[in-house]
Amino acid sequence: MNGTLAGRVALVTGGARGIGAATCRELASLGAEVVVTDVLDEEGTALADALRKSGHKASYQHLDVADENAWSDGVAELIARSGRLDILVNNAGIGTFEDVEAESLDGYRRVIGINQIGVWLGMRAVIPQMRAQGGGSIINVSSIFGAVGGFGGSVAYHASKGAVRLMTKNAAIRYAKEGIRVNSIHPGFIDTPMVEVAKGTEMEKAILANTPMGRWGRSEEIATVIGFLAGDGASYMTGSEVYADGGWTAQ
Ligand code: NAD
Repeated sequence: MNGTLAGRVALVTGGARGIGAATCRELASLGAEVVVTDVLDEEGTALADALRKSGHKASYQHLDVADENAWSDGVAELIARSGRLDILVNNAGIGTFEDVEAESLDGYRRVIGINQIGVWLGMRAVIPQMRAQGGGSIINVSSIFGAVGGFGGSVAYHASKGAVRLMTKNAAIRYAKEGIRVNSIHPGFIDTPMVEVAKGTEMEKAILANTPMGRWGRSEEIATVIGFLAGDGASYMTGSEVYADGGWTAQ
């Protein structure tokens, strides 16, 4: 397989649909062997099958990012099968709406468990293998809401994504001399199943009114940036926060 990522193996969490699925397709088109992971086994298996039918190397593994043991077992299984691991895209995530007063403790912990702890567990699981190989690239999917307060709702989501932003910088510094680059990407509002509930509502009007480009982003518009960060074109980038948000955070 030709391409800037030829010979590399990539693990994408939450890869079954939305931004994760677009990322799997992008990394495969750049030549990487892609391991699609998710908790949506049917969709994830179908995507891996479709990628293989198009001539790419791809497989599916069930991986709940909030499950500590699933990470150690999952990475061991991947290494046993593929022999190496060069790229981790920590993309899996869930959304919320509740503000500070409306959020429940269980709800808050669930979001932090997936969006924040899941990212830390992922980095912790892959770094020994990347170190042994002499380097790697980790891309953590944060959000514009990891940097700004948005509409004043979804407190747990903001907290989790803000943590991802700073965890990324901390890990970038720690592993810079070992050739492991760690960057975060901050999408604006992207048209995926996650935001389906907002369609046709006042929320959609507010989103589009607050986006300078005046439209939803497409998953592919995030995936191409992740593909760039994964490869050698971004070889001097680590600890960077990259925005693909239709101009939202420029305001
Ligand atoms: P999505 O809901 O379409 O996809 C998220 C994927 O993550 C799903 O396939 C889901 O099954 C998976 N997932 C959820 N919990 C999981 C778990 N515990 N373990 C493994 N996989 C799990 O959403 P999306 O919009 O594609 O979101 C992808 C990432 O982008 C998320 O981290 C999200 O917070 C972030 N993001 C999305 C937007 C947006 O507007 N869509 C904006 C900024 C950031």
